[in-house]
Amino acid sequence: MVVGDFALELDTVVIGSGPGGYVAAIRAAQMGQKVAIIEREYIGGVCLNVGCIPSKALIAAGHHYQEALNSQMFGVTASDVSLDFTQTQEWKDNGVVNKLTSGISFLLKKNKVEIIEGEAFFVDDKTLRVINEDSAQTYEFKNAIVATGSRPIEIPGFKFKGRVIDSTGGLNLKEVPKKLVIIGGGVIGTELGGAYANLGSEVTILEGSAQILPTYEKDMVKIVEDDFKKKGVTIVTKAMAKEAVDNGEDVTVTYEVDGKQETVTADYVMVTVGRRPNTDDMGLELAGVTIGERGLVPVDKQGRTNVSNIYAIGDIVAGAALAHKASYEAKVAAEAISGKKVEVDYKAMPAVAFTDPELASVGLTIAEAKEQGIEAKAVKFPFAGNGRALSLGKTEGFIRLVTTVEDHVIIGAQIAGIGASDMISELALAIESGMNAEDIALTIHPHPSLGEIVMDAAELALGLPIHA
Ligand SMILES: Cc1cc2nc3c(=O)[nH]c(=O)nc-3n(C[C@H](O)[C@H](O)[C@H](O)COP(=O)(O)OP(=O)(O)OC[C@H]3O[C@@H](n4cnc5c(N)ncnc54)[C@H](O)[C@@H]3O)c2cc1C
Repeated sequence: MVVGDFALELDTVVIGSGPGGYVAAIRAAQMGQKVAIIEREYIGGVCLNVGCIPSKALIAAGHHYQEALNSQMFGVTASDVSLDFTQTQEWKDNGVVNKLTSGISFLLKKNKVEIIEGEAFFVDDKTLRVINEDSAQTYEFKNAIVATGSRPIEIPGFKFKGRVIDSTGGLNLKEVPKKLVIIGGGVIGTELGGAYANLGSEVTILEGSAQILPTYEKDMVKIVEDDFKKKGVTIVTKAMAKEAVDNGEDVTVTYEVDGKQETVTADYVMVTVGRRPNTDDMGLELAGVTIGERGLVPVDKQGRTNVSNIYAIGDIVAGAALAHKASYEAKVAAEAISGKKVEVDYKAMPAVAFTDPELASVGLTIAEAKEQGIEAKAVKFPFAGNGRALSLGKTEGFIRLVTTVEDHVIIGAQIAGIGASDMISELALAIESGMNAEDIALTIHPHPSLGEIVMDAAELALGLPIHA
């Protein structure tokens, strides 16, 4: 211990300032707690700095570029369209990410949350050490909310270095690669693969399982695969990545498919095979906190670990690694510490893939409903039957509503199509509120809008379709 290091006292301490941590800190402060937040790297966590936000910015840039190149259908032809990727990156970093992260710092300060820079280590269930470049300080706390998030998984043969990059490297490339190989066709891999395909890269995705985007249903994924095909993206499924050799100028990737060894050479190989929770090397065991399978921390319905004054939220607990899940758990944990009777209910948790077109789902699929013994049915309404989709020139896709057979209660929805990420919220609300298809059908939706697809699907579920 540093000479003169006497412990400072904290009420509620939050470790990590991602969408879990900063939301927990603000809500705890709103509930009257005296709160401090500890962050070792960047305010806003992965989501704002090297996740959700910058990836959506690059995806948007790719769409603008494609529209500039390919709007002949609307009678619009442009010549000499060029892409200044330095400018794209500058806009993403300064025009988007920095604006949001400074907004979070402002909100934390406005709510009187003390921001402590440094890396936190537990000493026991009441004591933390925070270490940064030039100092170390001990803190005593009454309650702690751990929101330390996750980091990319490195696989054998693909050490992150040079031309072998993780998603953060993929977001911060200095140039658009001529060729890009992606290992892992999950949401992160396909989103970034799509962005770079739109920005002009020749993209190859190597996926270990039988389908890219394995968390989405086949008919939804098929639409994304068709779009990839049109853009010349190569998808190799059941491919086992073996090794990457960085040749300085380029990188050669070896993989096995159907028992045969293949190679592909590219400017970069980006490995997006999953993420590991940041629960190691921070003394959680010294605090007595149980760490379970795959590094995840088991918690109860309020986010409490086996140690009653320590909570865990976000990517370090079970469930989908999503920003809005982390923020939701944050509010529950902060309110639970304040004595409120709250608990998590994931029934209406949406998930989105920002692919072309977007995929979004909430609640149960028809297969899941049947597995749970619910007498359910599914109806499917195409985007091609919607005037707004037609006027936007984006008619690919469909919405599927899953309802109970008896009283048409909405229990799930899946959307593949333009605007799916925004449209899914109406269905999350419907599920959360226990609404049925009639409630949606009787709600007046503006015309012409993509939202009308939800109303049309509800009418279809009731057996009274106007547009099908
Ligand atoms: C490329 C990419 C795209 C994504 N896109 C989406 C998307 O579109 N939508 C979506 O919902 N999710 C998306 N995600 C997932 C999302 O980013 C995570 O689910 C979310 O960030 C988890 O929030 P969190 O608060 O648990 O942790 P994080 O955001 O990971 O934040 C944890 C913070 O804790 C800090 N920390 C860790 N250990 C310590 C310590 N010992 N002391 C102090 N500080 C510490 C870290 O520096 C970090 O800032 C994406 C992820 C990636 C990588």
